[in-house]
Amino acid sequence: MSHRPRVIIVGGGMVGARCAEELRSRSRSLEIIVLGDEEHLAYNRVLLSTALAGSLAPSETELHSARWWRERDIDFRTSTSVQAVEAAARTVLVDGPAGPEQLPFDHLVLATGARSFLPPTLTTAHDVGHPEILGLRGRADCERVLAAARGARNIAVIGGGVLGVEIADALARNPDVAGRGARVSLLHPGDAPMDKQLGATPGAILARCVREQGVDLMLGARAAGVEEGGLRLGDGQFVPADLVVVSAGVRANTALAENAGVDVRRGIVIDERCSTSADGLWAAGDCAEFDGVPTGTLRPGWEQAEVVAHNICAQFGGAQEPRTVAHRREAVRLKIDALDVASFGRWCVEPFDWEPGGPDVTVLSDPAAGRYGKLVVESGRIVGGVLVGMDDVVGAVTQMFDSGAMAPLDRLAMLTGTESAGAGGGEPEPADMPGEHTVCQCNAVSKDALVRAHGEGACDVAAIAECTRATTGCGTCAGKVEKILGWLDAQDAHAREPATV
Ligand SMILES: Cc1cc2nc3c(=O)[nH]c(=O)nc-3n(C[C@H](O)[C@H](O)[C@H](O)COP(=O)(O)OP(=O)(O)OC[C@H]3O[C@@H](n4cnc5c(N)ncnc54)[C@H](O)[C@@H]3O)c2cc1C
Repeated sequence: MSHRPRVIIVGGGMVGARCAEELRSRSRSLEIIVLGDEEHLAYNRVLLSTALAGSLAPSETELHSARWWRERDIDFRTSTSVQAVEAAARTVLVDGPAGPEQLPFDHLVLATGARSFLPPTLTTAHDVGHPEILGLRGRADCERVLAAARGARNIAVIGGGVLGVEIADALARNPDVAGRGARVSLLHPGDAPMDKQLGATPGAILARCVREQGVDLMLGARAAGVEEGGLRLGDGQFVPADLVVVSAGVRANTALAENAGVDVRRGIVIDERCSTSADGLWAAGDCAEFDGVPTGTLRPGWEQAEVVAHNICAQFGGAQEPRTVAHRREAVRLKIDALDVASFGRWCVEPFDWEPGGPDVTVLSDPAAGRYGKLVVESGRIVGGVLVGMDDVVGAVTQMFDSGAMAPLDRLAMLTGTESAGAGGGEPEPADMPGEHTVCQCNAVSKDALVRAHGEGACDVAAIAECTRATTGCGTCAGKVEKILGWLDAQDAHAREPATV
C-alpha cells in the first residue's frame, strides 16, 4: 500500500484554513487533516466585531461549507483539540467527538492562534450581582456578548485600542442594545482612543467621533476591580455595568509547542521559512513570532500560511526553492462606518524630530472638519503615516506605503488629493487604476486579477470572492471591488452596443 504523506494542521482558524487550501492547490496527493477545537468550521474572525452591530449574524461569517472542504479532500475536524505533540515520534494526541486518539504525521503546522487576555483583577472574584466579564475572540464569544448585551442596561468595554473601539461602536449601533436604551461606555487608560497607533490630534478626532456615535468614552480610566453592579476604577470612581467586554490584547497559544520542546518566546519562534526549532514542525499566524514580532494580523498570517504550504510541498516535490516571508509593512485600519482611520509603519516620528538625511514629516491637520493626515517619508518613500477622515486618499497612500514606490515631491498635494492619481494622489477611478494596483490588501489581489476573474464570468462580489479571495479578509475593499465591477459591466455593455455609422 502506498503511503500518502500526511500534513496535520492544528487550529481551524483563518490561517490554518488558508494553509490547508494552499497545500491542496499545490498537491493532490497529500493527506490534509485540520484539527480545530471550536465547534464551527473556519469562519471570518475579523467580522465578529461588525457582527456585534446586529447587521450580520455570527453564523454568516463561515468561510466555506462542509461540502466545500470534502470536495477538496480536506479532512476538517471540528470540536477536536490537540492535547500533546510528540515532535520526535511525529505524532499528536487528539481528543475529539470519537474520543482520544494518536495520529501520526509527516509534517505538522501549528496554527493555534491567540486568545483574549483577561486581566486577573477582573476575573478573580465572580460573585452573584457582579457583571458578566467576556472577551471577544471566537464565534462563541460573539454569541455570548450579543446575548448578554441584549439584556444589559449598562455595558462597559475595557480597552480603547482598535478592537475595543470597534466593539463599543458596534454595540452603540445595535438596535437591540443601544437602540433599547442600554448605555455603552468605553474605558481607556490613555489620553485618546488608539493613542498607540495615532497620537494626540487624530486621537482627539476619533474620540469626538466615538462620542458622537453614542459611546460614553472615559479617558484616563483604569479598571481596578469588579464589584456588585459594576467596575471600580483606580481613581475610586464607580462605573455601573452588568456586562463588561474586555479588549486588553491577546496572548499567543503556545503551550502545545512549549510542551513539545519547541522554542517559544511571546509566540512560537519561526524563521523566514516559517519553520520552528523542531524538524517537520511549522507555525503560522497569531501563534507565531517572526523576527521578534508576534504576527497579530491577518495579512502576515496568510502570507506565512502560503510560505508553509509551499515549503512543505517543495520537500515532497523536490526541485522547488524554499520560499521566505517578505519584509513586514504593518498597517492598521479601523472598521467603523463613521470615520476612516488608518495608521501604518513608523507613524510616530514628529515633524521637529527632523534632521538632515532623516525622515521628512508632512502634516495636514483640520480637526474641526475631522481630517488629519501625516506622512513620514525617508529616502523618497513613505515609511509611515496616519490618516483620519481622509477617505479620498487613504487607498492611494497606503498602496504607495505598501509597494515602497517613490512618493511624489509635493506631499501636501498627495494628502489633499490634488496630486494626480498616476503620481500617487487620491484614490484613482477604475479606468485610471494601473493593472498592478492592489485592490484587496489582505489577500494582495490586483485590479488585473479582478479584470481576469470578471472576464471568466465572475460578475458579482460573491463570485469575485470565490475566484480571487478579494473581500474575504477585513472586507473594507468591498466598495472598491463593486466599483470596478460596475466599470467592467459598463465597458461590456458599451462593447455590445451596435456601432453607429
Ligand atoms: C473581532 C476581531 C477583529 C479583528 N479584525 C482584524 C482586522 O480588521 N484586520 C486584521 O488583520 N486582523 C484582525 N483581527 C485579527 C485576526 O483575526 C487574526 O490575526 C487572525 O484571525 C489569526 O488567525 P489564526 O488562524 O492565526 O488564529 P485564530 O484565528 O486565533 O485561530 C486559531 C484556532 O486554533 C484553535 N486552537 C488553538 N489551540 C488548539 C488546539 N490545541 N487544538 C485544536 N485547535 C486549537 C483556536 O480555537 C482557533 O480556532 C481581528 C481579530 C478579532 C478577534
